[in-house]
Order: sequence, then structure tokens, then C-alpha cells
Amino acid sequence: MYNVIYKHYEGTMDNNKFLQKYKLKSTPQRLEIINILTQKGHSNVETLYNNLKLKFPSVSLSTVYKNINTMQEKGFLSEVKINGKKNVYELIKNKHSHAVCMKCHKVIDIKVDASELLYQAKQASNYKLNESSVVFQGICPNCK
Ligand SMILES: [Zn+2]
Ligand SMILES: [Zn+2]
Repeated sequence: MYNVIYKHYEGTMDNNKFLQKYKLKSTPQRLEIINILTQKGHSNVETLYNNLKLKFPSVSLSTVYKNINTMQEKGFLSEVKINGKKNVYELIKNKHSHAVCMKCHKVIDIKVDASELLYQAKQASNYKLNESSVVFQGICPNCK
């Protein structure tokens, strides 16, 4: 199926070293955020918050937002924007596209090379384009 490689899994880097690499202090909550995202692949803020609360009952939503912002600034968390749905977050991985189910909102990574699309967009727009993000929307096998 799809196997998009998490960048921090190259080698034998554990989550502590991963945070070190990005010059972020290792805190239990940050480690747990990484755990949750590694397991789920993608998660919106509410789901992250609810999962964190299981381990850290006193965690606040604003702490979750703060950590997400910091991790985004450091460049190892990225946001996936989905039309009409809550944005989800994921750990930085090799380039990939997304497919989202419009019924259950499940988001998966798909290995689709968007570089041809980027080339076409450059030709069509005359813009100096260097980034693209592709999100396919439809119905997943479970909801079919
Ligand atoms: Zn579905
Ligand atoms: Zn993804």
C-alpha cells in the first residue's frame, strides 16, 4: 500500500533525539504528541488534545496549540489543509499527497508525484511556483 517514510525514522533516531535534532527541549507532552502522530499519521487539534488528556489530565488546549506552533516553526510538523474540514497535522515526511474521506474524515498518505502537476501549473500561470499540495477528496473503502 502506501508507505511514506517519516523523516525521523531514517536511522535509529528515537523521539528524544528527534527533538534534539530540531533544537527543541524534550518535554513529556512533546514526546507524547510525536507518539500520537506517529500512531495516527494525521490528527486535528481536538483529537490531539483529547489523546494528550488521557496521559496528562491537566493539559490545556492552549498548551497544545503552543506546542503545535513551536513544532511548525522548527519545521518538523506540517499542516494539511482540507477544504471544509478541520486542518490536520502530521510529522514531516518525504513528499506525498493526501486522500481524505468526506464521510469519516480519515486522511491517508498517498505516494503521488505532484512534480508533473507543478510543471503544468508553472506553464499555465507563468508564476515562479515551488510548492504544491494535493488533497484528493472522496469516499474511503470503509464508507463505500
Ligand atoms: Zn470513510
Ligand atoms: Zn500526510
